[in-house]
Amino acid sequence: MKILIINSGSSSLKYQVINYEAREVLCVGLCERIGIDDPSMTHKLSDGKTFKGNMDFKTHRDAVFAMVEKLTSEEYGVIKELDEISAVGHRVLHGGEEFTAPALVTDEVKQAIRKCFAWGPLHNPANLTGIEVCEEIMPGIPQVAIFDTAFHQTMPAEAFIYALPYRYYEELGIRRYGFHGTSHMYVSQQAVELLGGEAEGTRIITCHLGNGSSFAAVKDGKCVDTSMGLTPLAGIAMGTRCGDIDPAIVPYIMKAENLTPDEIDHIMNKESGVRGVSGVSSDFRDLAATAAEGNERSKLALDMFVYQGRKIIASYAAALGGVDAIVFTAGIGENDTDTRARMLENLEFMGVEVDRSKNDGLRAKVADISKDGSKVRVFVIPTNEELSIAIQTVELLGLDK
Ligand code: ADP
Repeated sequence: MKILIINSGSSSLKYQVINYEAREVLCVGLCERIGIDDPSMTHKLSDGKTFKGNMDFKTHRDAVFAMVEKLTSEEYGVIKELDEISAVGHRVLHGGEEFTAPALVTDEVKQAIRKCFAWGPLHNPANLTGIEVCEEIMPGIPQVAIFDTAFHQTMPAEAFIYALPYRYYEELGIRRYGFHGTSHMYVSQQAVELLGGEAEGTRIITCHLGNGSSFAAVKDGKCVDTSMGLTPLAGIAMGTRCGDIDPAIVPYIMKAENLTPDEIDHIMNKESGVRGVSGVSSDFRDLAATAAEGNERSKLALDMFVYQGRKIIASYAAALGGVDAIVFTAGIGENDTDTRARMLENLEFMGVEVDRSKNDGLRAKVADISKDGSKVRVFVIPTNEELSIAIQTVELLGLDK
C-alpha cells in the first residue's frame, strides 16, 4: 500500500511516497519558491537517484502537476498510475479546537480549516490549497488532514488558558494550542514502547529541538502541557524566534521604534532567538564553532537555550508529578550531543543522569543515553513526522484492517 504525504508551505510543497507495509520511503520531493523567482524542484528516489531542476511553478497547482509527473515518470517514477496511491495524508498546521484527531477531508472539514486561517495565517491557506489541488488532480483518492495542534488538545484548561479577559478566549479563540503535535505524539509513543509498551502510568517529557523548538508533558500517553502557544512563537528561544518574553516589551519597542504590528512580528519571528542574541547564526553548528573560537555572544545564546530548556523540563516534571523518561528529537535534539547533555545538567536532584559515554557522538538513532540505574531514562528518538502522518492516515481510513 502506497501513501502520499504532502506538506505544503506558503511557497513550497514537500512530499514523500511511503510503502506502508515495509515502512519504506520510496521517494522524497521538494518544490520550492512556488510563485516567486527561480522556482525549482528536487525529487529523490530511495536508491539516491535524483532529479533536480529549475521549474516554471506559478501556483501550487503547477507544483502538484509536476509532482504527479515525476511520481509516474519512467525515469523517476515510483508508481505507474495515480490510483496506486491508496490515500494522501496532508500536514495542516492549525486545527484550532475543531480538530482533536486526523480528519477525512470533506467540505465541512475544509470549512473548519478555513476557520483556523486567523491562527495560522502563513500555513493554513497553503495547507488547504495543497488539499484542494490534490482533490482536483486525484479524484477518488481519500485525502486526510493531520493537524500539528491535535495531539495537544488533551491539555486541561489550566494549561491552555491565558490570564487575559476570558472573552478573548470565548470570542477570538485566544489560548495555548501548541505545535509539533505529530512529532511529540510519535516520539512519546516510541518512548512508551521503550518503557514497556503500556502508556497508562507513564510520565514523559518530549523535547523537539529544531529550527523551531517545543516541549510537551505527556501523561498516560496524552499531552497535558506544551511550550508553544497560540502560535509557534512561544516557549524556548529558537533559531530566529524569541520564545517567551515579557509581553510588555512588545508595545515598548513598537513605541520606541515606531513599528507596525507586522514589523514587530517579523523581528520576533525572524530576527530574534539564538540568531538575534549571537548576531552570528540560527544554526547550532555555527554557534558551537564560533563559541569555541571565543565568541561570547554565541556562547551566551547557547547557554540561554540550554538554561531555558532545563527550566521547562523541570517545570514539566512538576506538571506530571514526576518523570519516567525524557526524549530528545529533531535536528538539535538528535544531533547536538553537547546541547542535549548540558540541558539535563542540574537535574540530578530529579534522578536524571546522563552517561556522557553513551551520549557523546551519538547522532540520529534511537538510544538510551542515561546512566545505568538512572531513575529517569533519557532517550534520543529520531522523529518521523511523515511516517506518523502515514500511520494516522491509514488508521483513520481503516486501510490496515
Ligand atoms: P526544522 O524545525 O526546520 O524541521 P530541524 O529539525 O531539521 O529543523 O533542525 C534544524 C537545526 O538542527 C539546524 O538549524 C541546526 O541548528 C541543528 N542541527 C542539525 N544538525 C546538527 C548537528 N550535527 N549539530 C548541531 N546542530 C545540528
